[in-house]
Amino acid sequence: MKKTLYTLLVLVGMCSISGAQSKKSPKLTPEQARLEKLKQEAAAGVEKRAQLGQQINDMLFSFSELGFQEVESYRYLTELLEKNGFTVERGIANMPTAWLAKWGSGKPIIAIGSDVDCIPKASQKPGVAYQDPIVVGAPGHGEGHNSGQALNIISALAVKEIMEREKIPGTLVLWPGVAEELVGAKAFYVRDGYFKDVDACIFTHVGNNLGVSYGDAGNNGLVSVRFNFEGAAAHAAGAPWRGRSALDAVELMNVGWNFRREHLEVTQRSHYVIPDGGDQPNVVPSKAAVWYYFRERSYPKIKKLFDIGVKIAEGAALMTDTKFTYEILGSAWPGHFNKPIAEAMYQNIKKVGLPTWSEEDQMLAMASQKELQAPKISGLATKVDTIGLPADSPTRMMGGQAMSIGGGSDDIADISWSLPTIVLRYPSNIPGLPGHHWSNAISMATPIAHKGVVYGAKAEAMTLIDMLLKPEIIKDAWDYYKNEQTKEMQYTPLISPKEMPAVYLNREIMNKFKPELSKYYYDPTKYKTYLEQLGIKYPTLRDDQKEDLKKIKLESGK
Ligand SMILES: [Zn+2]
Repeated sequence: MKKTLYTLLVLVGMCSISGAQSKKSPKLTPEQARLEKLKQEAAAGVEKRAQLGQQINDMLFSFSELGFQEVESYRYLTELLEKNGFTVERGIANMPTAWLAKWGSGKPIIAIGSDVDCIPKASQKPGVAYQDPIVVGAPGHGEGHNSGQALNIISALAVKEIMEREKIPGTLVLWPGVAEELVGAKAFYVRDGYFKDVDACIFTHVGNNLGVSYGDAGNNGLVSVRFNFEGAAAHAAGAPWRGRSALDAVELMNVGWNFRREHLEVTQRSHYVIPDGGDQPNVVPSKAAVWYYFRERSYPKIKKLFDIGVKIAEGAALMTDTKFTYEILGSAWPGHFNKPIAEAMYQNIKKVGLPTWSEEDQMLAMASQKELQAPKISGLATKVDTIGLPADSPTRMMGGQAMSIGGGSDDIADISWSLPTIVLRYPSNIPGLPGHHWSNAISMATPIAHKGVVYGAKAEAMTLIDMLLKPEIIKDAWDYYKNEQTKEMQYTPLISPKEMPAVYLNREIMNKFKPELSKYYYDPTKYKTYLEQLGIKYPTLRDDQKEDLKKIKLESGK
């Protein structure tokens, strides 16, 4: 009986990557058989490096560095990559903590990136299902950005080993998403030409499942702007009439914005903090500043929102007789990801499947979900995600059309609008937690994160082998990029040629906490894991949490 291509794909898909060589389809051509063998080898090469992955993951977790101040992470990762044969270019795009690490030669050039920065005030002991900071008030990996480089490095090393032996041409370029939480770096990488010759990019980001999507990601892009107001100081009681308060301008701008908010499209997200509100009450503040993120669904809409912000700042300055300037601190486009590469990745995701979670992993997950009042107390994912479809996010009907209601942002979009790019999500976090929060750090230096990294790395390594040996993937990727993605919308940066990365951000906070945090840096020469170094029993639950879990188990009949 003549087998169709579909049957063949199904058969290939059923081959276990662990090497259960039951019945390989006799229909495989020698090239296909070689490809499948090398992919299985790549996955085995990742498994072999699981301990290295755990060390990188735990090391970055312990550094707990905020955006633009990823000094220890930068030093550790660049030295590690150099030791493994990569050529490292340091301080790229005027950012002291940014780097590019290259290995190999010729085409295709594949960039492999992941973020490295953490979240303010998110310090948390891993493996503990309630708030318990390592250092009170310090930053911590409450977004899980400590795990992506671990994934990328073990997958790249596994693939490199195969490329060397098989003499497969191609260049691997590893790079960090510096200051992603400030959307502060990637548009500069693009502007300064670091992705000019790259054929494709795989980006990895922590998630709750192993997954990938393509098309319009349904999220928002943004521009991050600081408005600086300047007035005149005066004795706040002795001669207040001589003062012009810059803080008044900030407050009026915020009042103005919050009234205007009602008349903005429902897809917008905007928020602010006041990084400078003056010095002390008896001095009329001559200087004050407010920092806004203006988020929307498309470039023209982001620009429009930003223009409204500038107008309201003008109004506030007029009312208070102050002056203002503004500076762009970061930017991101809304995401759009490549279909052919996502489809290739998804085939591998299905082969890899999800990690086997232990009883302890599930206990930590469920107790954390209960503690944080997650919408569902369902533990960790046990079923592989479906492939994400365009705008596969919360939608509502607008003007008779289903439309995404927007959400967060990631400046990987600036790279994805410049060349074929996908984001691989891997299951190192606990579903249902608030995000940008100490609780999202709970799993990030535990077996949950470690297993998620290894499974993600397997899917990535197998896809890299596909991309190296099947040139049609990259050809189709560019076809999609040129003829579908950028057919009607082309990339226009939100930053101008004159902007510089705001590398001074977070400096004071890191200076304050680094001496204390450094006492807890992970030492893999003494301890197998960071949990062991901190002396944390895995998982750590309060008695009432243990009782709750028993009740939940009884109710669900498990
Ligand atoms: Zn992130």
